[in-house]
Order: sequence, then C-alpha cells, then structure tokens
Amino acid sequence: MKIIKIILALISCLICLGAVLWYEMQPHDLEVYFFDVGQGDAILIRTPQNQDILIDGGPDDKIVSHLGSTLPFWDRDIELLILTHPHEDHVAGIPEVMKKYEIDKILYMDIDYENVNFEEMKRIIEERGIEAGPTYWGDVFYFDSEIRLETVFPFVNSDLDEFEDLNDTSIVNRLVYGETEILLTGDAGEVVEEQILANNIEIEADILKAGHHGSKYSSSLDFIETVGPESSIFQVGAGNQFKHPHFVTLYNFDRYGIDIYRNDEQGTIKVESDGENAIISTTK
Ligand SMILES: [Zn+2]
Repeated sequence: MKIIKIILALISCLICLGAVLWYEMQPHDLEVYFFDVGQGDAILIRTPQNQDILIDGGPDDKIVSHLGSTLPFWDRDIELLILTHPHEDHVAGIPEVMKKYEIDKILYMDIDYENVNFEEMKRIIEERGIEAGPTYWGDVFYFDSEIRLETVFPFVNSDLDEFEDLNDTSIVNRLVYGETEILLTGDAGEVVEEQILANNIEIEADILKAGHHGSKYSSSLDFIETVGPESSIFQVGAGNQFKHPHFVTLYNFDRYGIDIYRNDEQGTIKVESDGENAIISTTK
C-alpha cells in the first residue's frame, strides 16, 4: 500500500510539473521589463515565444535576482545581450549574468574605455567563444518572426573613438511589435539625437525610455516631438547623486502630455503588448 501511495504522489508531482511547464511555454504577450536596479539601466524584452533580449545589466548584480524571479526556472538562455555603452551603471551586472545564463549573442561597441566589468565581459566572450560584435543603423534583428529590433545608432561612419562623452557612443534601438513601438536610447545625449534627426531616421514610438536617466543633456524638444510618445520611462535610482531626472526634462515631457514612469518611485516598470495595445504596470 505504501508503494502505491508513493507512486501516486510521484505521478501527481509529475502532472503538476508538466502543467506548470505547459503553462509557462504557452505564447503570451510581449513583455518588456525596465527593472528597478537603482541608478542604472537594465531592460529585459521577453517575446511571446519566450526569446529573451537583455539590454544593459545595471550598476551591480541585482539584475541576476530580477532575472531569476522573472524568467521561468527552465529558461537559462538569453538569446541576445546588448551593452549600450560600458559605463559602470550599464555594464556592472553583465559578467554575473554571463556566469549564470547561456548567452547566444552579444552586441556592443568595442571602444577604448577602461572598466573592470567591461574587460571581464570581453574576457568571458573570448573564453566561451560567444558570437559578439558591433551593430549599426540599418541592422534589424527578428524574433518570433514578427518582432523587430532595429539599430538606430551608431552609424557605420560614426567615429566612436573620438567621443567627448562616452554616453554619446550609446547603441540606440527601436523595438517594433505590430502597432507597439518602443525607443530605447541608452545614455545618448542631444549630440546623438541631433544626428538621428538630421538623417531622418524612423524613431516614432509609443514609449520612449528617456535618454541618460532623464538628464537635461538628453531628450531635446525636437527629439521628443519627433518620437511622439504617449509614455516615457526613466531608469533612475532614488536619491541619486546626479539628481536625475532633471526637472526641466520632466517638465518638457509633461508639457507634451506624456505619461511619466520612473523606477525610483514606482519600482520595476513592465510593458505588455499584444501587438495592438500596450499596457504599463509597476511594482510600487
Ligand atoms: Zn547611465
């Protein structure tokens, strides 16, 4: 009798596990998480068919616990990792992510900049033979066949080694899923915005991640107007020493009637889209 009970218990465990796996593997809406990692950027795009794209790793290894609680336990694979630029508040969490997850491909600009975590990222790329390289305007990456991730900046002729401000080497991406468009700007400043506008590059988006944590040197009025977002997201840490976001930037977004979401006040910000409507929710 005891054996039968054990067998029955085992069978019900397997059924439960099967049901959980089945549920997790069902196609769902597109999910984009702007994680609350303090002062820094860390964005996870999870496609309806469970492909994962991580843009930046935040200022420390908090990103690992965010990924752990967001991704199902069986998903240890990140299809694409993008490092917008190697400042500490974007790169610091990346080596730890690379140790815990299988990374299929990495996009980054190999510019001359000293940072321990940037060096470590490059060392792990070399050690594991991970496919890695730069990306330029014109590149388009497809996921689930209907999701597009376009590179908006840099251009193939951008001289990134001549930068005055490392922020202006940021990779800028536009995510498109049906009617939903999200512009992800890294820490690009007005210098980059001007170049994008001067080249008439398609940047219209419903949601704009404010450049450089809402600094006053990003999000020019021309840029905001051309993007024409309904909502904006500010990746900022509470009480940060840079006083991001700048009050003028907030004022500018507000005067265009754009909804403002910020990590320091609302925790992690999640965008969900079925390709027609995008819904934004927050953890706080
Ligand atoms: Zn930054």
